[in-house]
Amino acid sequence: MSEDKPKVSSPPDIAAGLAAVTNALKHVFVKMGVVRGTRGLLNLNQKEGIDCQSCAWPDPDSRTINEFCENGAKALADEGTTKRIGGEFFAEHSVNELSVRSDHWLNDQGRLTEPLVLREGSEHYVPISWAEAFKLIADKLNSLTAPDEAVFYTSGRTSNEAAFLYQLFVRQFGTNNLPDCSNMCHESTSVALAESIGLGKATIRLEDFEKTDLVIVIGQNPGTNAPRMLSSLRSAKLAGARVIAINPLKEAGLTSFVDPNPQHYGNPFSGPLTLLRGKATTLADLHLPVRIGGDMAVIKGLMKVLLERERVEPETVFDHDFISAKTDGCSDLIESIDVTIWEDILESSGLIREQINEAAEMLLNARSFITCWAMGVTQHTDAVATIQDIVNLHLLGGAIGRPGAGLCPVRGHSNVQGDRSMGIWEKMTPLFRENLEREFRFSAPEHDGLNTVESIAAMADGRVKVFFAMGGNFAAASPDSGAVTAALQKCDLSVQVITKLNRTALTPGKTSLILPCLGRTEIDRNADTLFRMGDARHRRCRPEASSLSRPRVRC
Ligand code: SF4
Repeated sequence: MSEDKPKVSSPPDIAAGLAAVTNALKHVFVKMGVVRGTRGLLNLNQKEGIDCQSCAWPDPDSRTINEFCENGAKALADEGTTKRIGGEFFAEHSVNELSVRSDHWLNDQGRLTEPLVLREGSEHYVPISWAEAFKLIADKLNSLTAPDEAVFYTSGRTSNEAAFLYQLFVRQFGTNNLPDCSNMCHESTSVALAESIGLGKATIRLEDFEKTDLVIVIGQNPGTNAPRMLSSLRSAKLAGARVIAINPLKEAGLTSFVDPNPQHYGNPFSGPLTLLRGKATTLADLHLPVRIGGDMAVIKGLMKVLLERERVEPETVFDHDFISAKTDGCSDLIESIDVTIWEDILESSGLIREQINEAAEMLLNARSFITCWAMGVTQHTDAVATIQDIVNLHLLGGAIGRPGAGLCPVRGHSNVQGDRSMGIWEKMTPLFRENLEREFRFSAPEHDGLNTVESIAAMADGRVKVFFAMGGNFAAASPDSGAVTAALQKCDLSVQVITKLNRTALTPGKTSLILPCLGRTEIDRNADTLFRMGDARHRRCRPEASSLSRPRVRC
């Protein structure tokens, strides 16, 4: 049962370049074939094409022919692979045997082709008809004593349309148990920004990178989690901006970058030449090797230097007009900066005073600046407070809501933001509930549902008996795999709507269903038939019984 041993080499100090091009093409052509692969790449992130299902980096208004990165190409190839697995594969491989395989090997087995069921006490998944699968789910859901005995997880790859219908189905069933992958990535951003500025999203547009004087990248490695961001950082640099990287590690993607997109160079010749010569653009002008969890201390230190300068040269650092017109609580902030002593700042950040001073000088020389962050900031216990201090740093200088200035939380999953806007959230807002009830004429559950961590606890202690996942790989993505595995296996029924085999399918409830689905890069050729049959445009969804009794799920 040998699997490829990982190859260990010294880390590269230049990101992307020719290697990114060859890697991307190799993956796509090997998995999809040259013709299908080329067609896929030429459609990737194009206006009439396919939205990359990998990360959430936005697309520019004017697209280049190859508007994708190595990760995007790999994600396309991963979904477009010609490999297929179905009943025969699972007849040959038991769940136990498969569970010792790596996640990479499992994923590499290919696309799932038919619905599969693992019945209680059985060792092998076997084919099941769609009708029988839906009936099995409906019977189980209807047998629950309360809708809250089921949780409905969502992965950020779910499209807006599917996400909206899914939350409608779940809420008509009678629960808000809608945990999603955002609970584990940028939940702290959504909470922090909603409290600080009333909007849980980025405040800048892509073109702001070419209008800014400074970009602060904190707790993020764009080279791996949003590679096309490197092109935006390069454009910022070419437009005269400077970059500060705040990260325990000196990542290649924050150091220097060879843009593999020939159309990002002025003329058609310099692109290929630069690629061949590997002429890199230096990205970070300053790298602050902060201690893990030390981000808030760095931001506090920066604000402390700015405050000291403001006191020495009043009205030269803080934007008092903006502060008095657009903010409140500034005096509390000033007080909190004053009581924060340098010893604590340096101890927590792991930096020396000179490093923070240097970064503050770059801030003082910037009329506008953008701060980007990801899970290096969001996945800490004090993440909400750290993100609110990042906001405070911007509010002090009025660096928000104007060209080249603002906040840029960089989300991981491609549609995690869209899903939230579609209502995938265990905390439904009163306005959303009101509109949902009016539009679909049913009374939606009022009490908040369970988020990811709460769902794991509820599965573990038996309060939840059904786990339903729209995409994703819950067992691998959630914290504490041991606890998640035990919790999932306590469920009476686990259901996964997925494109490929994954760890969660091998961590089944007593009965487990795998329902294969199409991916983002595919068009449902059957859609027309289904649509004509459903004719949903003309018929409002109605629960089978009146809104007072618990709606029954019909298959
Ligand atoms: S940057 Fe993200 S969205 Fe863009 S192609 Fe790469 S993986 Fe896809």
